[in-house]
Amino acid sequence: MKHCLTIAGSDSSGGAGIQADLKTFSAHGTFGMSVITAVTAQNTQGVFDVQDIDPSVIAHQIEAIFDDISVHGIKIGMVSQTETIDIITKTLKKYPLPPLVLDPVMISKSGYDLLKPDAKKALIENLLPMATLITPNLPEAEEILGYKIEDLETMKKAAIDLHNLGPKYVLVKGGHLSETATDVLYDSVNFHLLHQEKIETPHTHGTGCTLSSAITANLAKGISIDEAVKVAKAYITNAIVHGFSIGHGVGPTHHFY
Ligand code: PLP
Repeated sequence: MKHCLTIAGSDSSGGAGIQADLKTFSAHGTFGMSVITAVTAQNTQGVFDVQDIDPSVIAHQIEAIFDDISVHGIKIGMVSQTETIDIITKTLKKYPLPPLVLDPVMISKSGYDLLKPDAKKALIENLLPMATLITPNLPEAEEILGYKIEDLETMKKAAIDLHNLGPKYVLVKGGHLSETATDVLYDSVNFHLLHQEKIETPHTHGTGCTLSSAITANLAKGISIDEAVKVAKAYITNAIVHGFSIGHGVGPTHHFY
């Protein structure tokens, strides 16, 4: 069995963050492990509080895993602040790394800053170059690059510009664009377009977390990048189709085992 690690924040309501990642790893038949960077108090209606985990405890979690257990895939999600990014970078650099998927989480759907604005520079300079794949949505890609993305051509330009910042592959997710949620995967030579009609549902909490974890599990299994992304897109689409209500706001997606 392959072992997948998520380095991310905890979502008390179970729809996003660490909890979504571990459910996704299990659903893909892999063994999930976690390094918690922050604890959020949230539900389907919003994020109400965040406690960032002490950098030394983050380092110790990473060391405890890598000093003992083989890791076949890593996903990085919510990293909160510069100190968190610096310690993750420094500690991971001590080990040979498996495929690493970075979801550059910035703002929750409910509008909460999951990455402090002044930590953007550290994310770009330290984490982007370590990544096998980055999976920004359009607002995140715009925030990193500093220009508006309004059509497929600009998405392709963004993919090239993001690739120049160091990751091996780039997936720009087009869900915020229009009727069709077309994503662009750039592998430094070719663009692979992944088309999907938009699904009308309010229950989309944790979609970004789930997609990046599904890709991580697929890469850990040795699946090629374009196939890993294609299969993960089918997984998240099905999870969104079966999204459901558990509270009074935006509900989670459904993980099939
Ligand atoms: N909470 C945590 C801990 C997350 O990592 C994320 C996204 O990565 C979210 C909340 C946001 O989830 P969403 O924007 O899908 O509601």
